[in-house]
Amino acid sequence: MGIGAGKLAPVRTGLSPAEALQVVLDATPVLGSETLAAERALGRVLAEPVVAGRQLPPADNSAMDGYAVRAADCAGASASRPRRLRLAFEVPAGGRAERALGAGEAARVLTGAPLPDGADAVVRQEDVEAGPGEVRVGVAPAPRENVRDAGEDVRAGETVLEVGERIGPAQLGMLASLGRSVVAVHQRPRVAILSGGDELVEPDRDVAVGRIVSSNSYSLAAQCREVGAEPVYLGIARDAPDEIERHLRAGLGAEVLLSSAGVSVGDRDYVRGVLEKLGCPLLFWGVRMKPGYPLAFGRFESAHRPLAFGLPGNPVSAMMTFEQFVRPALLKMAGRRRWFRPRLEAVLGETLRKQAGRLHFVRVRLERRGAEVVARATGNQGSGVLRSMIRAHGILVFPAEAEVLEEGARARVQLLDEEFLASDEPGL
Ligand code: AMP
Ligand code: MG
Repeated sequence: MGIGAGKLAPVRTGLSPAEALQVVLDATPVLGSETLAAERALGRVLAEPVVAGRQLPPADNSAMDGYAVRAADCAGASASRPRRLRLAFEVPAGGRAERALGAGEAARVLTGAPLPDGADAVVRQEDVEAGPGEVRVGVAPAPRENVRDAGEDVRAGETVLEVGERIGPAQLGMLASLGRSVVAVHQRPRVAILSGGDELVEPDRDVAVGRIVSSNSYSLAAQCREVGAEPVYLGIARDAPDEIERHLRAGLGAEVLLSSAGVSVGDRDYVRGVLEKLGCPLLFWGVRMKPGYPLAFGRFESAHRPLAFGLPGNPVSAMMTFEQFVRPALLKMAGRRRWFRPRLEAVLGETLRKQAGRLHFVRVRLERRGAEVVARATGNQGSGVLRSMIRAHGILVFPAEAEVLEEGARARVQLLDEEFLASDEPGL
């Protein structure tokens, strides 16, 4: 006899999804920081504010290829009555004006070239006729026209990027502009993923009768990657306590352990017992939701105190419990400010029914109809029917005590995929 279901420590059970989520988030730490080369920081989360050590742009400069002038010199100029100015010198992009611009003078400037002292406007070259030693200006520019002001983007000393902000392409460009080659970001959570079950094989193996490909390791690893966490695959453990223990031990250096299957009340469901033996008391088992009731959660008492999720084995249950509990925890760990999907109110495109007692997470397709969004279930909602996830734009929350949601009623939807808003037409 191994560690049977009968010998488990008492544990809180039958929590609502909201209660379970609170327990998970309360137990979830925010990870510390590490310093990275800025160019490797795409997708990471800032652990320090970025304060500008310089202004941007660093100096007044020309927004056009043209001529720097004193606006007052060109007052009243027009195409039919151009103003003649002496062509005094040229400022190349990246160069410097050799002297200040005097009254009645123009200087040739290229885009990005610093504005000479004395000048206060730039006239586009299209509005100027250039001759030897002089130009004829056919417009009257307003002061500061076609000039990018020093500091108009960023002032020195200003906080440009905040702690908790995710580094995207624009943030990387800003770090470069500010001369920041390294940046402090939150560590990425590492997630050790174990699949458990005598029936499981890797995808390249023969699927003899009774064998099932361990698909959960793929979907769960991908769900980790989507939020910037780093999956570490522990392989498949047979349904034996010592096998499960050996595999889980290999994952103890991670911040999160995820096992799928073997966490229910069957004779061969050993994951809970093994977790307890390894020093991970459970904070709950069993959440009043469908799919995904048999979810176990605990936190190790060892040094760096990883979290452990015993996810149910059915492919949709595993993905759904990840989505509802593991994903927010990983986002919190990674230092993100917001941990939940966008929510919207959708109108039911069909009547949904269930028994009272558990909250159902219904996978739905969404469709825009005028100002409203209409939701319809993605066919068979069985916990093993992965197609129901593939077609889903969102997850509709069918509250625990409700038995029917009538067509036309409104319900909350967690948005997974905004593809239903995509268009065949360019947005021009
Ligand atoms: P269990 O929780 O062990 O009773 O497993 C529930 C169901 O999920 C069974 O039909 C398993 O075959 C299936 N299952 C368990 N683990 C996986 C996995 N890694 N990939 C796909 N299906 C799985
Ligand atoms: Mg099993």
